[in-house]
Amino acid sequence: MRIKQFEDRYQLEPSFEENPVNIRKQRFIEDEQIRVQQNLAGRPSNIGYFEGLMYERDYSTKDRLRIGYFCRMIPPEILMAFDADAVRLDCGNGAAAAVGEEVLSGEICPLAKASFGSFLQADSLANTCDVVVLPSSCDAKRKMGEVLNDFVPTFVFNLPSEQNHTRYARASVSELIRLIGFLETQTKRRFSTRRLKAAIASGLRRTRLVREISDLRMRNPRALSVRDLFLIIQSVLFRPIDLDAWTEETRLVCDELASRDAPSRSLRPRLVLTGAPMVWPNYKVLNIIEESGADIVADTLCTGAQSCFDPVIVDERGRRSMLRALANTYVFASICPCFISQTTRINRILDLAATSDADGVISYSLRLCQLFDVENYRITKTLKARQIPHINIRTDYSLEDTEQIRIRIEAFLETL
Ligand code: SF4
Repeated sequence: MRIKQFEDRYQLEPSFEENPVNIRKQRFIEDEQIRVQQNLAGRPSNIGYFEGLMYERDYSTKDRLRIGYFCRMIPPEILMAFDADAVRLDCGNGAAAAVGEEVLSGEICPLAKASFGSFLQADSLANTCDVVVLPSSCDAKRKMGEVLNDFVPTFVFNLPSEQNHTRYARASVSELIRLIGFLETQTKRRFSTRRLKAAIASGLRRTRLVREISDLRMRNPRALSVRDLFLIIQSVLFRPIDLDAWTEETRLVCDELASRDAPSRSLRPRLVLTGAPMVWPNYKVLNIIEESGADIVADTLCTGAQSCFDPVIVDERGRRSMLRALANTYVFASICPCFISQTTRINRILDLAATSDADGVISYSLRLCQLFDVENYRITKTLKARQIPHINIRTDYSLEDTEQIRIRIEAFLETL
């Protein structure tokens, strides 16, 4: 089956922006976050391995197929079944957003602008990908597919708008089959069920480890800063890596955390973080929360522990049942606000607040992302009705509002 998503008729020549000043700004933002994080106390002894992955700037050399993808709804296992590195491309650098803005002008969220901005930079990791896959999650992503297709063959995965399994499971599986057909056409490789099975198994190992670290942190959040937790998780999602090596290193982190004694009593407030994605180096709000004396003990972010929360459970043999299991995990268990109902997300927040014994919830929204803005109304009311303290922080990628946010968060913490 030969599949191509967009017609060639209006295809444009990709144009790259030579902007050395902006590149320097991007590096500066990254260096600042590296500096902040390197000053954290009690980091795992092998944190250098994860830093090496995240801080690497030259990924131009590759000996494997590389498939880029966006969001939490694309199963990386499908991409790995093509014997490819699966690399998530959502970008968190504010300077890259400024580049993207020059082309994608208008009221678009900074994550979409920054992600597009990274394609405008010829030597970026995004431009080393052979194929890109993104879901029709929000308007920006839905429309960005055709724009990215000028740079690299791109597939837009049609998501159902509703997480109604009975009604849309079949449609999601057939969309996964269409994705497989597209990747076969573009990569000239055969999809392998055997490799898919192996990819699901290694995905499960990753999920177990992330859950184990999350449980350890719930008991003793001071054992690992949430910023290092995000660094560890994002290194496996956002970089082309050797998954076995990552698994071994993360195993060492778990063992080290387990050997650390939890303080018998901590006065630091325990918080659940929910909301928009935070992608390295955009850890501004994480810096402020921890520096203000609180701990994030659980999160629902699609770039945090939530990204690896739900295991893929295959209950029957065969390719189709594996695809169904992937759709169940990545589409129907997703808590992305792009779906019609926000029940899954509210359930997860309440569940995490109870199981982590949290003192409050922090919502984080990115300016110009209407999805989170609209959801915040019901989340605020629901938490208030249950007397769970809650604050909503609405910001973008710039650092200008850092002190304002710090004041708001400190005031919130005082009320706990
Ligand atoms: S919140 Fe949803 S749309 Fe936004 S990056 Fe995450 S998965 Fe994608």
